Amino acid sequence: MEELVQQIEQLKQEINEYQSVSAELTEAFRIKYLGTKGIVKNIMGEMKNVPNDRKKEFGQILNEFKVFAESKYEFLKESTNGSTKASATIDWSLPGDPVGVGSRHPLSLVRNQIVSIFKRLGFAVAEGPEIEDDWHNFGAMNLPEDHPARDMQDTFYIHKDPSWLLRTHTSSVQARVMEKQKPPIRVICPGRVYRNETVSARAHCFFHQVEGLYIDEHVSFADLKQTLYFFVQEMFGKDVKVRFRPSYFPFTEPSAEMDISCLICGGEGCNVCKHTGWVEILGSGMVHPKVLENFGIDPNKYTGFAFGMGVERIAQLKYQVNDLRLYSQNDIRFLKQFTGAV
Ligand SMILES: [Zn+2]
Repeated sequence: MEELVQQIEQLKQEINEYQSVSAELTEAFRIKYLGTKGIVKNIMGEMKNVPNDRKKEFGQILNEFKVFAESKYEFLKESTNGSTKASATIDWSLPGDPVGVGSRHPLSLVRNQIVSIFKRLGFAVAEGPEIEDDWHNFGAMNLPEDHPARDMQDTFYIHKDPSWLLRTHTSSVQARVMEKQKPPIRVICPGRVYRNETVSARAHCFFHQVEGLYIDEHVSFADLKQTLYFFVQEMFGKDVKVRFRPSYFPFTEPSAEMDISCLICGGEGCNVCKHTGWVEILGSGMVHPKVLENFGIDPNKYTGFAFGMGVERIAQLKYQVNDLRLYSQNDIRFLKQFTGAV
């Protein structure tokens, strides 16, 4: 019995040192140790020669030895299988798999285009937080508490007293610029905004805006019109017509909404323009003197204009997408249609 135990120890040593570099050598290991005529079976056959009172003890040693050999075999199999399989199935001379190249989101494409047009006119890009306090989002923009115009911009409040909310427009960024900078100011503010709206094809609880602000001495409504006219021509082509309709915003006076001639029907009337030949693309106006005063800018010396547009709206007209929800559904079939778009 002692001899057998010693023999097992030696075999364990041997197994431990066994190395294999191929599936053939691993198979040789299996046959030698674990095969039907292998060493493990062989030694197990010695059990009958062990005295009865030591059978239990020897049984344990044998079992341990068997598990040891089996786990070594599993290890060898795993390490050699991979290498033989790899060398057998991979043809290294073949060209590699093409790497999938993503594309920019259509809203990013349109935003970048808007930004680049205004950059050429000398506008700088300003960004700000999406979580805002009440003052920067409403108060500073001449929308005091209880102002009925707040109803048009119902949003998501994160905290009450003091009020923290998800900004309803990027005008809050204009407020932050006016807070830090003295005129002349010429910035555009692209970013995501939030409204408490039921999600449908025409409305969403979040969307993207690009707002612009220009404050200097002698800035007039003519400057506003010419700037926006230039933008529209660059964005949609030279043939597009523009019209301004009087409107109301608490932060501009006078205010106007701007329409462009319908790109789909060329002005003749269709579903997109509701048979009017015109589609609204942005709101604009001369900065309200109260807003300038809020930031210590003298309204008798300085004037300015501001405008704001929805990026989704511009993208919708440019790409003729009729459902706003498509932009945020992350559907690859929709998104990959813009791979070639500039
Ligand atoms: Zn039309």
